[in-house]
Parts: sequence; C-alpha cells; structure tokens
Amino acid sequence: MAGIYIHIPFCAKQCTYCDFHFSTTFESYRGNLLKALSSELQLRAPSWQKEVIETVYFGGGTPSLLSGAEIEALLSTIYANYNASAVKEITLECNPDDCSTDQLIAWKMAGVNRLSIGIQSFTNEQLSWMNRTHTAHEGFTAVERAIAVGFDQLTVDLMYGLPDLSQQAWLEQLNRVIGLGVNHISAYCLTIEEKTVLASWVKSGKIHPSNADQQSEQFELLVSTLAKAGFEQYEISNFAKEGKYSQHNTAYWQGKKYVAIGPSAHGYDGTNRYWNVANNQLYIRQIEEGVLPETVEELTNQDRFNELLMVGLRTKWGVSKAELKALLVHDEDWYTKLESWKQSGTVVETETHILLTSSGRLLADAIASDLFVIG
Ligand code: SF4
Repeated sequence: MAGIYIHIPFCAKQCTYCDFHFSTTFESYRGNLLKALSSELQLRAPSWQKEVIETVYFGGGTPSLLSGAEIEALLSTIYANYNASAVKEITLECNPDDCSTDQLIAWKMAGVNRLSIGIQSFTNEQLSWMNRTHTAHEGFTAVERAIAVGFDQLTVDLMYGLPDLSQQAWLEQLNRVIGLGVNHISAYCLTIEEKTVLASWVKSGKIHPSNADQQSEQFELLVSTLAKAGFEQYEISNFAKEGKYSQHNTAYWQGKKYVAIGPSAHGYDGTNRYWNVANNQLYIRQIEEGVLPETVEELTNQDRFNELLMVGLRTKWGVSKAELKALLVHDEDWYTKLESWKQSGTVVETETHILLTSSGRLLADAIASDLFVIG
C-alpha cells in the first residue's frame, strides 16, 4: 500500500508565518507546471508498479487554485499509470475563499472525496496580520457549502499559540469549529520560522509571540474541549470523530511508502527518501528533459529508527517495539533512557508498543529527540 502526494506550489499571496515552497507569480507558467507534474507522475510510475495506491493528497501551496478539470487531468494520469483502482481517499487542501459552490461541485465531480480547509482562525484581526486571503465569514461559509455539496470527510486547520490569543478567545474558536459539524480537526501551534515576515516582526518587537506556558495551556484546552465534543486525538495535532482519520497522513505516521510529485515534495520508497528541487522553473526544465529533479538519500537503520520514533510517538498507536528492535542492536543506554521516561509518567510500554501518556504528549518532541540514536 502507498500514497501519492502532489505539491501545488502556487499561492495567491504570502502568509506572514509561512516558509513552505510556493510562488505568487505563477499564471505565466501555470500550464507548463501542470504538464510537468503529469510528466513526473509518468516518469516515476515504473518504480511503483508493485504498489497499490490507496490515497492521493493534493497539498501546497494552495491546490484549491486548481479547477476541477485540472485536478481531474492529474487524477487521470495517476489512474493510467499506477495501480490505483483501490484509491479510497483523495484529499484537496483548500483556502476558504476558493470554496464557491460551483468550485466545490467541480472538485467533487473530479473525484476529490475529502477536503482540508485552512481556516486557521475565526477572527478577522488574526487573519489580517497573518495576511490570509479569506475572512472569518468566508471560513464559516466554506465549511457550510462543503457540507451542503456532500463532502462528508471534512477537516479544518486551526492555529493556536497566536499573539494576543487569550484562553477565552481560544475556547470560543474551538466551540465555533465544533458547532460547524466537521468530523476532523487539525490544530497546530504557531511556530516562528526563520526568514518569514513574522520572524522579522518578532525581532523588531512589532509582534509579541505567545510563551511556552500559554501554548501548553492552549494545547490542554484543545485536547479537553475536543474530547468532550467526541473527537479522538489520534495524533498530537489531529482529532477525528467516528474513526474519520486521515488515511493518507496515518500512512506517513506508520512509515508507509509514498510517491511525492512537484517542486520541493519529499517522498519515501521504503529504503530511500528523496526530495525534489524547490525551484519551479528548474523543476519544469529538468522534467522536460526527462530527468527527475531529485536528491536521494538512502536511509540507514539509525535514520529509520529515529523517524519511527519521531512520527510514531505522536500517534495514539505509538511505536511498534518489534519494528524498533529490528532496526537497533541492543543498546543498554537507550533502554535506560526509556526507563527513565517511563518512571516520569510520560511514556508507557505495552507488550507490543511504546506510547506517550497525556502528559507525555506535551513533551513529544523532547522525548523523541532524547530517544534518538546518534552516532
Ligand atoms: S496559503 Fe498555505 S502555503 Fe500558501 S502562503 Fe499561506 S500558509 Fe503558506
């Protein structure tokens, strides 16, 4: 089983906190880029013939800038070149202001069956300094229209840890999103990435970021509020009702293989990780020459061990002890460190898995990096 990720490197404008790869001046070469994505799908297909493709994910950037016909053309290339008759989940990330009823119907008819709507906040003040393209009202209407059009797999992204976001305001945001009737929510803490507009504002004192205590309190409020509303926290930042997990992302977290297509996209074939060049023109040129614009890195057992820990510990399933053991020759120091986290009440060990407790989830990154094998 494998998934396909397609990176659409276009955005209408630049959000102040974002360091993803995208371009805001794309109309002049939009057609060439889409043609290159299709060609890359074909170039990579021979290496993936043994894999059954179960999920497709259009991420970005802003994939909702694509029309239904453009999505359909990329999906047709997948069906024609991969073993994709068993695809169960096709997700499109979208910005609320792109979600007109006509557009939603067009995506649905193209085959998209899951939407990930980037709401981020329900207040115009926050959306404004973030330089998002949408308003709070457009956030609401996008979800309402998607439900009306018949999308029953619907997730929204929210952000906490925002400057000037009080506990009370965060609770109001959560209650609003619960009231919308979605069955999946992803909530991420704002991080100040280097070389972003936000980083320069923080440096100059224009914006005061939240502190670690506020972020922890908001995370705890998030977890308890969504639990009361019937959402299961199946990954640290992801909450689902009635088992409506993201199948594509769950496969990542379980270390499954995936094809990655598009500028800056990262893929994994079970042995190697590869990443495409983060430059749209160079990407197009190399693909036109029939060359994969990639850097490939063969993962060592140590790399795979650390990755399993890093992503697996964040999930409700934890990390398989058998998989870890297959990658690590017995290391006394490692077991001593594990024991010490267990004693602190942040980690538990079952017969088959290593899991974080609820207090451990607050320290997930620190625990994973402490348990990394180095050298
Ligand atoms: S829409 Fe998404 S990818 Fe584009 S700039 Fe904003 S956060 Fe980044």
